[in-house]
Amino acid sequence: DDAGVPGRVRVAVRLRPRNAEESVADADFADCVELQPEFKRLKLRKNNWDTDTYEFDEVLTEFASQKRVYEVVAKPVVESVLDGYNGTVMAYGQTGTGKTYTLGRLGEEDTADRGIIVRAMEDILAGVSLESDSVSVSYLQLYMESLQDLLDPTNDNISIVEDPKSGDVSLPGATLVEIRDQQSFLELLQLGEAHRYAANTRLNTESSRSHALLMVHVKRSVKGRELAHSSQNGNSTNIAKSLRPTLVRKGKLVVVDLAGSERIDKSGSEGHTLEEAKSINLSLIALGKCINALAENSAHVPVRDSKLTRLLRDSFGGTARTSLVITIGPSPRHRGETTSTIMFGQRAM
Ligand code: ADP
Ligand code: MG
Repeated sequence: DDAGVPGRVRVAVRLRPRNAEESVADADFADCVELQPEFKRLKLRKNNWDTDTYEFDEVLTEFASQKRVYEVVAKPVVESVLDGYNGTVMAYGQTGTGKTYTLGRLGEEDTADRGIIVRAMEDILAGVSLESDSVSVSYLQLYMESLQDLLDPTNDNISIVEDPKSGDVSLPGATLVEIRDQQSFLELLQLGEAHRYAANTRLNTESSRSHALLMVHVKRSVKGRELAHSSQNGNSTNIAKSLRPTLVRKGKLVVVDLAGSERIDKSGSEGHTLEEAKSINLSLIALGKCINALAENSAHVPVRDSKLTRLLRDSFGGTARTSLVITIGPSPRHRGETTSTIMFGQRAM
């Protein structure tokens, strides 16, 4: 198991259960996929006789709990962020297949329903000490190459600044809110959702047409024990111990709820929607190229092709860890979209 290995993208596939509409409409038809989680295999039905078989790092059936999905997809990434590395968790798939359910579900009443974001913050808050450490959050929407601050609805043109030496990405214009407890974090998420809804109503679009990015910055102070141990003789060990310098570990977790991957340009829509479609296709193709490059261990990751990939630049390669969950539905009517989602996931491995 290479859950903790940096560089490579880990890919999990998650199947959503049939919804009420599908239970009726597809009653006489088999699901378009068959999962074999024990072998980490997915069989895609091509017709009544033929199936194609694919392997993933993890195969999550319609019975997989939110807790299990968190543990498999996100927990290793969260742990490395606490250790001072950058980490990304992304959900890719057709609209309606469970990206937001997987990542963003708050699940206040039914706590078993809590999604990845809520569970990640619980683990982060449990892993830091708030006297000496800090946890702060930005929440953004990327719509048609415009980066909007979901914590400040007046700010819809955030610029991306890249440090040419370190490659670190910063967003000087984005609101950064310090988080002290889970309750205030949940309230902040709800505020961001309300702003997202208002912005999308104003722009006459849907949330499935934009990418939502939650960024969690974790800064931890670690006492320099290592330094005391590395000293050559007894005297300097005592000196080093008494000085006990403090090391600062900075990690960043980015959770990305990607725009719906369906090819909306084929639907015959025009004007605004066609522009949206082009923009979504462009950013998802650019993302695909970057994760292919990571999968192939290529020295060149083409981050410059879109704002989405520029934003994720310091989360690609190096010591960063990336986890991708592709979400699919069971309906044979969406076999085409399901196939293209599976292909996106395969190319990332
Ligand atoms: P997306 O964000 O990909 O468009 P959603 O997360 O909004 O999709 O999911 C669509 C619907 O399906 C929602 O009503 C959601 O609650 C439900 N759903 C998605 N995944 C699951 C799941 N694994 N179990 C139960 N319901 C799910
Ligand atoms: Mg969604």
